[in-house]
Order: sequence, then C-alpha cells, then structure tokens
Amino acid sequence: MRIGIGYDSHRLVEGRRLILGGIEIQHERGLLGHSDADVLVHAICDAILGALGGGDIGRHFPDTDPAFAGISSINLLQKVAAMAGEMGFEVNNIDSTVILERPKLMDYMHEMALNISNALNISVDRVNVKAKTNEGMGFVGRDEGMAAFAVVTIREKDNK
Ligand code: MG
Repeated sequence: MRIGIGYDSHRLVEGRRLILGGIEIQHERGLLGHSDADVLVHAICDAILGALGGGDIGRHFPDTDPAFAGISSINLLQKVAAMAGEMGFEVNNIDSTVILERPKLMDYMHEMALNISNALNISVDRVNVKAKTNEGMGFVGRDEGMAAFAVVTIREKDNK
C-alpha cells in the first residue's frame, strides 16, 4: 500500500461556474482556473500522483496547454486513474476536505463522492468528502478563494 497527499487552492471570481467534485454548485461566483478549476478533484489527482511517485497535475496537464483549457477535472481524474492502472495500482480509499466559507455543500456531498468514485471505478464507500469553513480567517475566510486537501491510499492491483 502507498499513501499520497494533495492540496490545491483557487481564487473565486465573478462570471465562472462553481464546479466541485464534478458537480455544478449553485453560487454567484466560481473558481478561476485553466480547467474547470475543480479544487477538490485537483487535490485528489495530486494525492494519487503523489502516492504513485508521479509528480503533480501541473506536470501532467500544464495550464499552458490549450488541450486542457476548460476541461472537466473529472476527465483529468480518469486520466490519473488510468496512469495508476498502467503502473499496476488502483485507488484503495480517499479522504478529502474542501475549505470554503460558503455555500453549504451538504446537499451535494453524496453526488460529489459518487462522481469521484465513478471516475476511479471504485465503490462510493471508499470516497469521503468533507467540508469546513475557515471561521472567517485568511483568504478562505475573506471569501477570496477555496482550498482542498486530500489523502489517498493506493494498492497493488493483485492485492485485492
Ligand atoms: Mg488546481
């Protein structure tokens, strides 16, 4: 078994859709980025790549490459899962936390976990998504952006 950690943050701006866990969340602003700026999925991608010893998403999907402009991050997650598969690994479980001042994500939690588990072809009980506010402190507290952490374990495919 191997473990990886991922962290990401994106700035909140007007005129963008808010996508988290591959789902459009009703909100008056969205996250700025080259892709759909799905901060949660980016943290998970980085955690998987970390466990693989495979660098980070910036290396594999550079924001200078027009091929990734506006791309769904769930799509990137599928590519990362395929990379893991080629190296003989599969994702065992994921724990993650989105840090945002608002909106409340409670109603979206299950669908986000389901989306992520479907992209990785694992059961939804292996994917945990949590949300926290930053109690008004720092860039998250000032509603300037959102951040996410993820920890992932992967295992060799034959060790099922
Ligand atoms: Mg990112």
